[in-house]
Amino acid sequence: KAKGKGRNTSHFYDAQLQAEARRRRTLEKGLRAALDCGGQLQIFYQPQVFETMAIVGAEALLRWQHPRLGSIPPQEFIPIAEDCGLIEELGDWVFNQTCAQLAKWSSEHLPVKISVNLSARQFHQSGCLAKMRKSMKTWHVEASSLKLELTESVLLENTEDTLENMKQMQLSGLQLVLDDFGTGYSSLSYLKRLPLSTFKIDRSFVRDILTDANDAAIAQTIPTLADAMGLDVIAEGVETKAQMEMLREMGCHCFQGFLFRPALSAEDFERVLRDPGVLLGEGV
Ligand code: C2E
Ligand code: MG
Ligand code: MG
Ligand code: MG
Repeated sequence: KAKGKGRNTSHFYDAQLQAEARRRRTLEKGLRAALDCGGQLQIFYQPQVFETMAIVGAEALLRWQHPRLGSIPPQEFIPIAEDCGLIEELGDWVFNQTCAQLAKWSSEHLPVKISVNLSARQFHQSGCLAKMRKSMKTWHVEASSLKLELTESVLLENTEDTLENMKQMQLSGLQLVLDDFGTGYSSLSYLKRLPLSTFKIDRSFVRDILTDANDAAIAQTIPTLADAMGLDVIAEGVETKAQMEMLREMGCHCFQGFLFRPALSAEDFERVLRDPGVLLGEGV
């Protein structure tokens, strides 16, 4: 459209921007279609394990298989959903599906606790908790079998409303997890006021925990702080046994990461639930 203007120098750049804009529009439309017709969206479950290798739960992670573009990572489509106003619907779908899955596992005597990610817009939308309660009621799922993962960015918006919102969620029996802990800007005095149950150590500190003294120092403070505040702690992105050992020495006893399993389809996760020994079977 900017024909003739700096055409030669910015040609490739323009072409790239155009391609990005086109992909974005395709994904926006695609997401709308995915929500309307079903089949493309799926929830995967990544095991969370205690140091004994007992499964303590799973994180629900959304997967999207676009009919033409294939698998689209949540890092790409979640922000798009946020921008184009589809995140509420998407988030409601995830929560409701998770409840349906929990109901199925509960009926098969496979008790498990699932953590669901809430994006900022979903958390701040009015009626968010009411909708979650409705899903729990529909599926006869106890709030105690669910956790909500919130990031610091969510908690820094309208802090008084946020606090009130969180209190209501906690009163409903939902436990609140601070996801990606350490990557945001919340002050400790603010965090102290929040009704959290768990800190989740961000993957970025776990990655180089063995070689980077700064990362190790930051990671180390989190279990200490959690302990002082009476909270639980879990580490994400644990890929090696050495990382797990180091985290254990720091006082973190719950882990999630590729060392155990990536996010699995419901069927595959169910297999792990039925036979937790399989987690031990692979050199862990
Ligand atoms: P998150 O909530 O921090 O989720 C953890 C991410 O780390 C997941 O990526 C998981 O697959 C990945 N991961 C777990 N263990 C390892 C590991 O050992 N190594 C490495 N390299 N990665 C690991 P995923 O599934 O691609 O999700 C990315 C982000 O997208 C999530 O980060 C979350 O912020 C968002 N997301 C995913 N599903 C949902 C959803 O249903 N709702 C919302 N609002 N956000 C979601
Ligand atoms: Mg998460
Ligand atoms: Mg993270
Ligand atoms: Mg995380």
